[in-house]
Formats: sequence, C-alpha cells, structure tokens
Amino acid sequence: MKLNSLAVQMLLGLLLIMLINAVIPAVLVLRATEDQLRNPNSKQRELFAAIVQMSEICKNPKKYPEIPCAALKENMPPLQKGDMFGFKGNQIPNPFNQLEWVAPALQLGTGIAVVLSIAIALLFAWYITTPVRAVANAAEEIALGNFSARAHLRGRQSKQGDELSSLAFSFNQMAAQLEQNQLERKQLIADIAHELRTPITVMQFRLDALEDGVNELSIAEIQNLSSQNKFLARLVEDLRILTLADTQRLPLERVQTDLKSLVEAVAMQFKPRLGNKALVLELLPATVFADPDRMRQVLSNLIENAGKYAKKEIWVHLATQDNLVILTVADDGVGIPSADLQRIFDRFYRVDESRARATGGSGLGLAIVKAILEAHNFQIRAFNAPSGGAVFEIRFTA
Ligand code: ADP
Repeated sequence: MKLNSLAVQMLLGLLLIMLINAVIPAVLVLRATEDQLRNPNSKQRELFAAIVQMSEICKNPKKYPEIPCAALKENMPPLQKGDMFGFKGNQIPNPFNQLEWVAPALQLGTGIAVVLSIAIALLFAWYITTPVRAVANAAEEIALGNFSARAHLRGRQSKQGDELSSLAFSFNQMAAQLEQNQLERKQLIADIAHELRTPITVMQFRLDALEDGVNELSIAEIQNLSSQNKFLARLVEDLRILTLADTQRLPLERVQTDLKSLVEAVAMQFKPRLGNKALVLELLPATVFADPDRMRQVLSNLIENAGKYAKKEIWVHLATQDNLVILTVADDGVGIPSADLQRIFDRFYRVDESRARATGGSGLGLAIVKAILEAHNFQIRAFNAPSGGAVFEIRFTA
C-alpha cells in the first residue's frame, strides 16, 4: 500500500480524530484537578488540616504505632479507597471521591473534541472529494463539447499522488487526447477538402473548355481527364485504408509470405518507370507472417517515393538479424530534412509542398505504409544516410 494512498489518509484522519477525542478531555480534566489542588474547597481544606494534625501525631510515632508515619513524611498521605479518609477516630469524608470538578472539565473537553472532530471530518471529506468534484465538473464540460476543460487540482495533479489525484491526472490526459483528436479530425477534414478541390477544379475546368469548344475532344484530353480521375480514386482509396486502419478494421489476410519474391516482383513492375535510375536489390531469403497484398502496397509506396527522389540509384536490402527480418529502401536523393523526419509519416505531410505536388503525390503514401505496418505490429523508421539520401527501414517482428 502506498504511503499517500487514500486508505492511509483516511486511517490517519481517523487516528487524529480519536486522538483529539482522547487527549482534549484528558488534558482539561488534569488541568482542572491541578487547579483544584491549588485552590482546595472546604472539604479538601478539612482533609489537609487532618494531614497536618496527623503529621503532629507522627512526631511521637511510638504513642500511635498504627499510624503509617513513614508515608506521611513524604508529605502525601496515602489516599484510601472508600468514602471516608483518615484514621480510626479521626475520619472525614474523602473529598477526592466526589470528583465534582471533573464533570464540567469532561463536558467542556468532550464538547471541544466533538466540534473539532466534526470540523476535521468535514475538512477531510472536502479534501478527499475535491478531485472527484473537479473530474465531475470537467466531464460535464467535455460532454457539452468543451474539449479544453480540465480537472483543476492545485498541487494534487500527479500520477504519484493518491488514487483520486491520479484519477484526475489520467482524466486530464484523456481530455488532452480527446482535444488533440478533435483538432486532428478538423485538420483532416480541412486537408481532405483541400486535396479533393484541386483535381475536381482541374477536371471541371477541362470539361467546361470541351463544352465551350475551346478544347477539342482528343485522346490526349481524355487521358488527362482520366489521370485526374485516377488521382481522385486513389485518394479516396487511400483515405478508406487509413480510416479502416484507424478503427482497427483493416482486413488482413496473413500468411507466411516470401518477402524476397515479393520485393523482386514489385521491383520488376517499377523498373520500366525508373528510366535510367538503377534499382539495386540485395536480398537474402526471408519469410514473414503478413498480408502479401498489403506488403506489396508498402513496398510499392516506398520504391515509388525512392524513384521520385533518387538521382541515380535506389537500393532495396533484405536481411535477417536474430529473430528480426529487416528491409531497407534507400536512395541517393536529397534526403529528408531532420526537422521533418518526425512528421514524415503524418497524413498529407509534405516536406516541400510545391516539389511534392509536382511529383504528383497526395501526401498519404507514407501514412498508408505506417498504418499497414502498425496493423501487422511491424515498425518503420526513416533516417538519412551519412552519404545523403533517404533510408526507410522496416523491422518485421515474428
Ligand atoms: P507523397 O504521396 O506526396 O509522396 P508520401 O507520404 O509518400 O507523400 O511522402 C510524404 C513526403 O515525404 C513527400 O512529400 C516527400 O516530401 C517526403 N519523402 C518521401 N519519400 C522520400 C524520399 N525517398 N526522399 C525524400 N523525401 C521523401
């Protein structure tokens, strides 16, 4: 059990209340007794007179052998149980048995203790339930659509705090994540609208020109319209894949996949499009448990990108290391500025907007690659080769 846990706090509170209830009445009774001894009442005065008288008697102890003079010499006669105090033939009522000064002290002490206990209990209840109230208020705000609402707890907002403080801390983390998701969703919708607008506008422009007779309906014109349409179709398909991956609904038909053959097949498909750029394959046999069609898409996106940016060469390297299969796609192009490496897999993220648009990319290729790999529990990272050029490394874990 943690020292600052709720149970320990409640236990300490209970102990404090018990202590107050025991100590305050006891202290007041003791003080009242002390006062009483300092200012004796008439009965007590009688008792003290008897003590003095007895001490006179004790000057001649042989005459009264039954009197315990040794005890009297200590200035404090032994108090006897019972109502009477003193010695044979010289007894007075024992005033200490009546304890009448104790009752008011006890009443006052108990009263103070009860009031203090109630105050402490209320303070504790308030302190303990503060995080719950803060979370409830923030949850209400969030339910009304205010995603910036947080549970405010001065100094108690820590994961290491008691259970309720860490509940408020986790709630705030969740609220921050919700706010971030909402912002990303808004941004994504804006990005999608922006991406769709360009090809649709271009298509409309060309169709208007055909309709007005400005352009002639030629094969080249049809090809142009068709390529805009293909771009749109690809964009919609990419978005569909990303949405499925986001909601963990991307269908995967995993089988033992011969990665070497798959890379060779994709490379064959790309070679004609690479012109005089060389595609170098260094492949060792490796099998991974994955969906071959999705892996083909991953390889295509990476090789396509490398082909766009490479100056002369693209390398695909496949090797195994212990239980890992590592596939690397590298090129000798401009590489990726280090500030962009973190965001390179984000949707619609392009390092150089104008350059990327010129190469016809939608900014979704790498986001798809990452989404597919993550759905398989594989990892990808991007970095720059010391000699320049971008490197994408995929780690296929068993
Ligand atoms: P796009 O479809 O626009 O290429 P990607 O998601 O595939 O989108 O890539 C995102 C951005 O990453 C690209 O716009 C480009 O700026 C950068 N990028 C991707 N691959 C490479 C590479 N091999 N070399 C340099 N930059 C790259």
